Amino acid sequence: MAIKRAYLDYQSTTPLDERVLSAMLPFLTTKFGNPHSAEHNYGWEAEAALDVAREQVSTVINGQPESVTFLSGATEANNLALKGAMERLGHDKPNLVTVATEHKCVLEAAQYCASQGYGLTVLPVQQNGLLDLNVLEDAVTGETAIVSVMAVNNEIGVIQPLKQIGAICHAKGALFHTDAAQAFGKIPLDVEAMNIDLMSISGHKVYGPKGVGALYCRPGNGAVIAPQMHGGGQENGLRAGTQAPALVAGLGKAAAICAAEMAQEEGRLRGLMARLKRELASVLPAMRVNGDEDSRWVGNLNVCFPDLDGDRLFADIRGLAVSSGAACASAVAEPSYVLDAIGVDKKDAKASFRIGIGRMTTDEEIDFAIEKISQAIRNQGVGA
Ligand SMILES: *Cc1c(COP(=O)(O)O)cnc(C)c1O
Repeated sequence: MAIKRAYLDYQSTTPLDERVLSAMLPFLTTKFGNPHSAEHNYGWEAEAALDVAREQVSTVINGQPESVTFLSGATEANNLALKGAMERLGHDKPNLVTVATEHKCVLEAAQYCASQGYGLTVLPVQQNGLLDLNVLEDAVTGETAIVSVMAVNNEIGVIQPLKQIGAICHAKGALFHTDAAQAFGKIPLDVEAMNIDLMSISGHKVYGPKGVGALYCRPGNGAVIAPQMHGGGQENGLRAGTQAPALVAGLGKAAAICAAEMAQEEGRLRGLMARLKRELASVLPAMRVNGDEDSRWVGNLNVCFPDLDGDRLFADIRGLAVSSGAACASAVAEPSYVLDAIGVDKKDAKASFRIGIGRMTTDEEIDFAIEKISQAIRNQGVGA
């Protein structure tokens, strides 16, 4: 039977892997203890779940388990990293450096720091979405406390040169933070080899549950972050509040599955994405890819169909869950600031959209997407 809808918006969120759900269930039922209860078995078994997850998460990035702090998601991790670093280091090093194409939560947290009197530099990117290392080199000084550059962009999928960025930060004595919500578990990451001090991770981008994430603080540098949530001293005092063992166990299991299946999954997605791209380009040869064509996560395709009416295209592809080039803020659809930052004009941004594929994406869903989009293009009297 032909399918009637397809979810191709994996950068927005991912479905929960059933194996992850199984790992979570005991902590929602019988193993309900508080991991902070040190006096009895109920507490111990919950705490043991956190330990297992810390090991699973840290293994994926070649980190130390005790340097993983569990919290509510990448938004919180990014806030903690930036505000926590500025609070602790800002007296001597009052500046923060980030990039125009970061996720809103990094940009807003950085703006908050600026409102508290710290210096903020927001760097531009090149037309391919990648940071120019010379521009970074010029911007980072001995007064820079922390530099925040995301690993894989959530809109255009480009992979930043993390290792080189980290090397520049360290040469200037600045911490390097990366928002790896879209990269963790998908591309190889190594906090040691890549000079990464702080890394933000999200559960629901890697087939885990929503409402959980982690901040990795590389040993020696973790102490420089000031907690932003005060209370019972959980997570080594870095994030107070009773941890959620079910969510954390889910994140751990999700990380372990990603690590075990990363290479194989990447290969499969590469094939699906190549077919999708080829077929769409054959319908409309003027199609352009937004963001670098090589340094990108294979599960992301952000394309522009020049001269197409984006609103009409969207109306015609109902049933196909993809994301538009216009991020809806209030009633007015403003073109994406990320596309703006790579020089895509308003008109082309409106004719752009993002397709995200992942673990559960089937051949049939790719067929469905090709059929829907091709038809929508033909409806506008263009395309082959
Ligand atoms: C999804 C996402 C976030 C926010 O993560 P949450 O866990 O939903 O708070 C931050 N940064 C990037 C790059 C993301 O893709």
